[in-house]
Amino acid sequence: MQLIYEQSVSGRRGVKLPASDVPSAACLPKNLLRSEAAGLPELSELDLVRHFTRLSRRNFSVDTNFYPLGSCSMKYNAKVLENSAALFAPFHPMTALLPGGEEYCQGTLGMLYDLGQLLTDITGMDEVTTQPLAGAHGEMTGILLISAYHRARGKKKKYVVVPDSSHGTNPASAAIAGYEIITVPTAPYGDMDLDLFRQAMNDEVAAVMMTCPNTLGLFNPHIKEISDIAHSHDALMYYDGANLNAIMGKVKPGDVGFDVIHVNLHKTFGTPHGGGGPGSGPVGVKKALAPFLPQPRIVMDDEGKFVMESVKSGTIGRTANFFGNFGVMAKAYAYIIMLGREGLINVSEQAVLNANYIKERLRDYYELPYDKTCMHECVFSASRQLEHGVHAIDISKFLIDRGYHPPTVYFPMIVKEAIMIEPTETESKATMDAFIEVMIEAAKTAESNPQALHEAPLTMPVGRLDETKAAREQNVCCAG
Ligand SMILES: *Cc1c(COP(=O)(O)O)cnc(C)c1O
Repeated sequence: MQLIYEQSVSGRRGVKLPASDVPSAACLPKNLLRSEAAGLPELSELDLVRHFTRLSRRNFSVDTNFYPLGSCSMKYNAKVLENSAALFAPFHPMTALLPGGEEYCQGTLGMLYDLGQLLTDITGMDEVTTQPLAGAHGEMTGILLISAYHRARGKKKKYVVVPDSSHGTNPASAAIAGYEIITVPTAPYGDMDLDLFRQAMNDEVAAVMMTCPNTLGLFNPHIKEISDIAHSHDALMYYDGANLNAIMGKVKPGDVGFDVIHVNLHKTFGTPHGGGGPGSGPVGVKKALAPFLPQPRIVMDDEGKFVMESVKSGTIGRTANFFGNFGVMAKAYAYIIMLGREGLINVSEQAVLNANYIKERLRDYYELPYDKTCMHECVFSASRQLEHGVHAIDISKFLIDRGYHPPTVYFPMIVKEAIMIEPTETESKATMDAFIEVMIEAAKTAESNPQALHEAPLTMPVGRLDETKAAREQNVCCAG
């Protein structure tokens, strides 16, 4: 595809600007004046519309195709949420910070306050900060809160415990906050090995970070026991909320012993993500950790007005500008209000039902390393296909040719040739059936014609990429 600069034809115009009514540039400092024309591309409106429309059609999105990306809850983003977020658009983020500015944005501050209240209710926590800009950022904020908590009580703690099925951001966040990591292996039954966990625990452990259901899509039945063991060593329990979509209205993490949680609004609460952002990872805490939360916080005063609470000592400080990624929060708020309690419960039930449906329909074709009822996602292994020289990546590329975004592959890392499928609640049985047929076709092709899978994708502008090089030396201009 020709780049927009290459399509430029001297003298071609898309718009005609009105004559300038600004006094001559003489009043501007000389060094700020442009001496040469800006060299912008010159195109007609139609050229431009076609260019961007063509580009948009090369974008894979949940609006165009099924996107069963495990661990990431790529659900449909209802358009009504965009409208709701747009209602807040006229406010400049500085408004609340100006003297007397709170007067002018009671609705905005109230929304953030209310969202915090709803999240505390859903998660079983006492207080929430909306500042963190993503799940990983929430983890770092949460671990800094835990660190501040132990320090304030004069405790020196050295370790953070994670299961080996954890998302890489868990140990990374803990390491950034200055902790050493203890990794506990997963038992053959698919949960963190309870005996090895007991052995790993000691009084220098600051926190245990868990995802529940974990990245194998399995809910840990021993979670209360695990948190009791952690608390007996004065360690806190951190809940990675990336998989909250599986349990809303069923289990509150705060009720089973978790002390700190992040919620990925861009996963569970129907706001768009992908391509690197934007995200939002509010962090909820139990009362004992509230004094350390980022400031300022929005509180309701005696007259029912929303005000920003002044900075107190003990806080870990700001972890983001303003109150975080506001647009994402406005959409998540609309999502929660729109669905209500029953709706959220229904979301989780449907998400779990859909994942189990796919698991059952594909079990004859793909290996199930942990063969149990799953929650919102199911994890297969392409080990049977590997006997024919076909890897999980080959199956992914084949799916692309058939119009499906590949599921997550090679994660969790404890599963060889992992294929992690998360349909979410928003997909119909018809969509899942069509996807299942293609997965079956891939399994059959692996036996009959493995070479065909090695050659996929054939329908895309680019074929197989060197994925490491593509990530490290990103070049989004030359799409061929
Ligand atoms: C997505 C994810 C994260 C990180 O969240 P981001 O919002 O992408 O930073 C952490 N843990 C798990 C299990 C995840 O799936």
